[in-house]
Amino acid sequence: MNHLTHDTIVALATPNGTGAIGVIRLSGPDAVVIANSVFKGKNLTKQASHTIHFGTITDGDLVLDEVLVSLFVGPRSYTRENVVEISCHGSNYIIQSIIKLLIRQGARSAKPGEFTLRAFLNGQFDLSQAEAVADLIASDSKASQQVALQQLRGGYSSELKDLREQLVHFASMIELELDFSEEDVEFANRGQLKQLIHDLTRVIGKLIQSFELGNAVKQGINTVIAGRPNAGKSTLLNALLNEERAIVSHIAGTTRDTIEETLNINGINFRLIDTAGIREATDAIEQIGVQKTMEKISQSALLLYVFDVESITPDELSQDIQNLYKPGLPTLLVANKIDIVPDYKQRYSPALPEGVTLVAISAKEKLHISQLKQLVYDTTIQGRLNGNETLVTNIRHLEALQKTEQALIKTLSGIDMQVTSDFLAMDIKQALHYLGEITGTVTTDDLLDNIFSKFCIGK
Ligand code: GDP
Repeated sequence: MNHLTHDTIVALATPNGTGAIGVIRLSGPDAVVIANSVFKGKNLTKQASHTIHFGTITDGDLVLDEVLVSLFVGPRSYTRENVVEISCHGSNYIIQSIIKLLIRQGARSAKPGEFTLRAFLNGQFDLSQAEAVADLIASDSKASQQVALQQLRGGYSSELKDLREQLVHFASMIELELDFSEEDVEFANRGQLKQLIHDLTRVIGKLIQSFELGNAVKQGINTVIAGRPNAGKSTLLNALLNEERAIVSHIAGTTRDTIEETLNINGINFRLIDTAGIREATDAIEQIGVQKTMEKISQSALLLYVFDVESITPDELSQDIQNLYKPGLPTLLVANKIDIVPDYKQRYSPALPEGVTLVAISAKEKLHISQLKQLVYDTTIQGRLNGNETLVTNIRHLEALQKTEQALIKTLSGIDMQVTSDFLAMDIKQALHYLGEITGTVTTDDLLDNIFSKFCIGK
C-alpha cells in the first residue's frame, strides 16, 4: 500500500444506490481547492473550518446539482487533512457526475478504508481504534455497538498502552545491564521483574479469555434448536421470533434443511438454528439432516433440545440426552406441548448432567416463552457482561495477545534459569513487538492492507 498522503482522495461516503442525499467526501491537501474549482456560491478557500455553505456544483456551464458543502480544515478533521463533504441529491447519476468531475480536477478515487487509514497514519487514533470504526459500522445489536464504541473511544487502547509502558520500563532496565555487561551488575531486581511479568501475564491472560464472550457479543451467539421430528422446533422458533417464518407442518421431518434467524434478547443477538429432526434415519435425505444437526451442535454455544411431552418415552428422552450431551455446552431441555400434558412432570424426571436445565413450555400456546428467553440469556451471558470490562473481539488481537503471552512465559522461565540479560532482552522485545501489532506501533504494509481492504470505500 502506498502511504503517500500528498494527494487528495474522493469517494461516496453514503451507500450506493438512490437515497435522499448522497455525501461525497474529499480528503487531502487540495480538498478545498478542488471543491472550490467546481463550486459556485462562495469562495470556499476563504471560509473558516467547520462551516457549511450552500451553492451549486457546475461542470463548465452545466449545473449538476444544488448542494451543501461542509468544510473541515486539517488537522481538525477525521483524517487530520483538509476534508470537504459535499451533500448532493441522492441520484446515482448526479453522484457519479460529481465524482468524475472532482477526479478531472485532480482528486483520486479512494481505496477501501483509505480515509480511516489516513486518520490512523496521521495519529488520529491507533490501529485497534481504526478497526473499531469498521466494527461500529457493522454492529447490529446494542452489545456489539457498545463494545465497538468502547474500543473506538480508547478504553482498550489505554489498557494495552499501560501494559506496554511497563514492559518498556522492564526492557530499559535490562538494556542498562547490557551496557555494563563487563561489570556483571544487576540493575533489575530479578524478584521484582518476575512479579511484574507475572502481573502482565495475568492481565493478558484475562484479555485472551475475554475473546470467547467478546466474539459472541460481536458475531451473535450460535444457538441450535434440535429435537425429534414434530417435537415443535419450528413452532418454537416462530414463538421466539413472534412471526411465521419457519414452515410448520404435521409431516415428520419436513424441516430438512437448517433455518437461521436472529433473536435479540437484552441487547445480545442469538443466532437460532432450527435443524432437521433427530431420529433413526431411514432415508438418505433425513440422514444428511441428522448429520447436519450434529455438525451445527458442535459449532454452537447453546443447545435447545426440544421434546414433545405427549409422545416421547422416558427411555427415548434419556437416549437423546445421552447422544446430544456435550460437556461444557450449556443445554436447555425444553419440554414442549405442556398444554396437552400439564402433568408432564409425573412422566419425566430425567437425570440431568451438569450444565443442563429443564424448562417446560407450550410453543403453540406461547406458554413460558419469556421465561425461556430469559434462561437463554442467563445461561450464556448473565454475570459475564458488566458493561465496563474490556472485551477482545478481534481475532487478530487474540493471536497477537497469545504470542505476547508466550514471549512473557519464555521471559519468566529465562529469569528462573538465570539466563543472561541479552536473552531476556530478546524475549521482552518479542513481547513488545506483538503487543505493538495490536495498536499499530509496529506495522507492516501487508498488515495495513489486510485490515483496511476489508473496509468499505468511502470510510
Ligand atoms: P418440528 O418438526 O419439530 O419443527 O415440529 P413443528 O413445529 O412442525 O410442530 C409439529 C406439530 O406439533 C405441529 O402440528 C404443531 O402445531 C404442533 N405443536 C408444536 N408445538 C405445540 C404445542 O406447544 N402444543 C401443541 N398442542 N401442539 C404443538
